[in-house]
Formats: sequence, C-alpha cells, structure tokens
Amino acid sequence: MSFESFKLDGRVGQGLQAAGYEKATPIQAVAIPAILAGRDVIGTAPTGTGKTAAFVLPILHNLLAMKKQGGRRATRALIVTPTRELAEQIHTVINELGKFTSLRSATVYGGVGMQPQEKALQQGVEVIVACPGRLLDHLNRGNARLDQVEVLVIDEADRMLDMGFLPSIQQIMKQVPSQRQTLLFSATFDAAVEQLAAKSLRSPQRFSMGTDAPSSTVAHTLYPVPQHLKPGLLQRLLDEMTVHSILVFTRTKHRADRVTEKIKRAGYAASALHSNKSQSQRKQSMDQFRTGKIKVLVATDIAARGLDVSSISHVINFDIPDSATSYIHRIGRTGRAERLGDAFTLVTREDRDTIREIEKTLGTPIERKVLEGFDYREALEKNPVAFPQRQNHNRFRSLKTQYA
Ligand code: AMP
Repeated sequence: MSFESFKLDGRVGQGLQAAGYEKATPIQAVAIPAILAGRDVIGTAPTGTGKTAAFVLPILHNLLAMKKQGGRRATRALIVTPTRELAEQIHTVINELGKFTSLRSATVYGGVGMQPQEKALQQGVEVIVACPGRLLDHLNRGNARLDQVEVLVIDEADRMLDMGFLPSIQQIMKQVPSQRQTLLFSATFDAAVEQLAAKSLRSPQRFSMGTDAPSSTVAHTLYPVPQHLKPGLLQRLLDEMTVHSILVFTRTKHRADRVTEKIKRAGYAASALHSNKSQSQRKQSMDQFRTGKIKVLVATDIAARGLDVSSISHVINFDIPDSATSYIHRIGRTGRAERLGDAFTLVTREDRDTIREIEKTLGTPIERKVLEGFDYREALEKNPVAFPQRQNHNRFRSLKTQYA
C-alpha cells in the first residue's frame, strides 16, 4: 500500500521520501488511518514491523494540521518507552520523518546528566520521548509540563510493566489531560497490560500483527547441542554464513563477554553489548554494528531491547530466552519490515519446556537441524567429564531425536 492514500501533510510526505519509505508495512496500513482519525489504538506489534513510523507519521500530521497559534512551544505529544535506546530510536525516526517540519522533539532518560535535557525541555518541544522514571524527575522539578498533551503513546507496554514502571506511568498519566488520544503498543498482552489499556484508552481500535508476524518473515531453526559444545557450534554456524549482520543473544553478561572473545579469536569483528558497558561504549558498538564495521553483536536481552538495525540477517540464540515472549522480542530484530531473516537457537536438553512454549506461541513446530560436518561425537569423546564415557554413544545417537 502506498503512503499517498493517507493524504499526509506535504512536509511529512517529503520526510517519507527522504527516508526512502515507499510502501506502508501492514501495521502502518491499518494504524495510520485510525490514528489520523483521532482514534485510540491498541497495537500488538513486535519491534521490526514498522511500528514506530506507524505512530510517528500520523502524529506529525495531526500536530501540523491542528497547529497552535503563537506562544511558546507546548508539549503536544508524549511518547513513553522502556529504554533509552528505544527513546533515541523513536527520536531519530521523528527527526527523520519530521525533517521538513518545524516540530521539535527531545529525549528524556536516565543514566545521563539532567542538564542538557533540562535545557531542551525549557526551550520548548512539541514532542517528548521519555523513559518514565527520568520524566517524573523532570516533572517534579518543574522542567516540563504535560497539560497541553494531545496524544500519549505507551510504547512496549509489556516491557515497561515487566520493568516495574507501572507506578511511574500512573503518575505521568495524572498530569496528562484526560481529553487526549492514547496509543498503546505491546508485543504481548497479559492481564496487567489489559488493565493498563482499560484504564488509559477509550473505545480503542485494536489491531494485531500478532505473534505470528515474525514467523512469516523469519525462518526458525533449533540446533540441539550439549551445553559445552555451543561455542564450537556457534563458530561453525558463523563460518557457514555469507551475510554478516548477526545478533547473538546470551543469558548473562559474563557469557556475552566469553562468547565475544571466542568469536573474535576466530577472526570475526565482534563486540559485546550489555549493561556493564558504559553508555558511550554501547552506543559505539551499536553504531559500528549498524555501519557494518562490526559483524557480530553479542548481547543480553536488556541491552538489546529496542536495538534498531534494519538489516540484521540472523538472530542466534546462543542461550534460549526464558520465555516465548522474549523469544518473539529477540527475533523481532530480524526479518524487519517484511525482510527475510533467520533465527537460530542452540538448545540443550534442559530447554525442552521453553521450546514447547515457544512452539505453542508460534503455532507451529520449529525445525530441528544437526549441523552437517560438525563433529558432535568427537567433541563428546574429548569431553569425558561433561558426558561420562559409557553413555557417550547413546547420548550422541539420541541427539537427533531427543528434541522431537
Ligand atoms: P520498527 O518496527 O519501528 O522498529 O521499524 C523497523 C525498521 O523498518 C526501521 O529501521 C524503519 O526505519 C524501517 N521502516 C519502517 N517503516 C518502513 C517502510 N514503510 N518502508 C521501509 N522501511 C520501513
């Protein structure tokens, strides 16, 4: 579907053209008309579906269409999102698509100095993109006012609730006019998200890209492997890939560091991304990954949240995520905006319950593969401690079947 049918403000159209977007993604096709019409909206849209532009485009249009006359710039749109990376990405999309408008946006998140944010807010911005905690700090100091807000976006609601932001969100909502448009996005819906939606939205229009959105563009594969062979198998998988823009997930920061070292030694330009790294280190890694200088980024879930790299070709779960929800979130980073991607997951015997949960959520079994030429048996024999000698053979034989 082309963007022309939305009849967006010409300046927004210019932004679209400059960004090189030609056709609306499915979520954009349904969300944009509803938001333009002023409806409240609940969208189930994993990262990677074009969700950000789906709300940024109509918000920019509406702000321009209902331009306030004269006076100081008032904050008319508030976007709350769980992480600073997401806040920065949304801000970037606003600046990109709003390049030909005079609308201004500012980001507000913790972990950096208050002052630059304070200054930006005091100068006046039409759009604030914020993480809840730091926004409250600014509100308490009188640096920002939300009494002119016309549209509130609650982005990645499930994540924010997981992170314990509900009380902050509730406080923020008290300062936003009750006469407003509210858009709520969440990759998953449980009772807590539904409750938040019920409290903050009015007869919302619901649409869902559903949890099957990633599976339609992403090929999923499981690689059964004993725990101690994971590094070797990962290296072999990398060796066989020609495209390199690979996001590897590990369960812990320590494992992210170890895996990064291992693949660097194997000759790959890799970097670890986790919360023990400073903000500037994280930014550098992400920039280098985005520009292709780093081919493999090894991340923990928290650090990778909202990572926006449109060309990620593969997500490799070195460790399986702890739930189907986080699996969907992780692989939301590949197959973005209708492109094809691959999601590989290295699985051990202990992961069976989680695999079942993921398959149930995807509504389809995931293919199991044994990597041709990877010597599971030799490696087992070299590692008698991990697998006692007399069981070696049976263990190897059962590898192909034990996950069936
Ligand atoms: P999001 O789901 O918002 O994280 O967006 C995923 C990626 O798709 C981002 O890199 C966007 O720049 C890109 N994108 C969003 N909408 C479109 C579109 N209509 N055409 C091409 N790329 C898009």
